[in-house]
Amino acid sequence: MPARPYILAETTWQAVKAAAFEVVILPWGATEAHNYHLPYGTDNYQCDYVAAEAARLAWEQGAKVVVVPTIPFGVNTGQLDITLDINLNPSTQLAILRDVVRVLARQGIPKLMLLNGHGGNDFRQHLRELQAEFPTVFLSTATLFRIVDRSQFFDAPGDHADEMETSMMLHIAPDLVRPLSEAGSGASKQFRIRALREWAWAQREWSQVTADTGVGDPAASTAEKGADFLRAVTTELSKFLVELAAADPQDLYE
Ligand SMILES: [Zn+2]
Repeated sequence: MPARPYILAETTWQAVKAAAFEVVILPWGATEAHNYHLPYGTDNYQCDYVAAEAARLAWEQGAKVVVVPTIPFGVNTGQLDITLDINLNPSTQLAILRDVVRVLARQGIPKLMLLNGHGGNDFRQHLRELQAEFPTVFLSTATLFRIVDRSQFFDAPGDHADEMETSMMLHIAPDLVRPLSEAGSGASKQFRIRALREWAWAQREWSQVTADTGVGDPAASTAEKGADFLRAVTTELSKFLVELAAADPQDLYE
């Protein structure tokens, strides 16, 4: 496989010196159980795929974007009792992110796009704090499964190891997906308190909510659905990257 110039891990110092990157794309995933049929690295595979494909599309339109390696551990404070779900606390994430942004600020790289691939991660407050600290680096974030409306692609609701995630993995890494006959149903419990189901929020204790760690029935998943969804996601994200690369951070409003 030839080196891709928009993937930092495949790129040399000589190429980086010449490239003058405008946007660094930092994918951030998680390492956690995904029902009985998907691997622990599911969110990271999805991050790697979406970041690389969106960057390729943007690069081919002349955007100077580069994907740095995916950070593989996410916030899993609700899954501490699930074996080898690796938790990074939000404050640890902030410390990591601060060091990354400091590097960009020192080296004059003007923009960061943080691509989140895990429901337990929420980087907006981190970016507010770091934007005040590092005004020369424009900070933005998006969560990959919210970039396009999933209901146009998938029938079953869910938010973990569900029809959406399973379909994506059937397209990205089919050899790592166990037969769907081995998957649990992804049945999940809801909060007893109505407000917590409707408009209030509290963290869910995952092992009390679901027996198989999944939330959402994966039974109707197909590689074709995954390919269609991923095409829509990466196309939309690439348009953002092209605009972001060309944008003047001092002139963003109209
Ligand atoms: Zn996932």
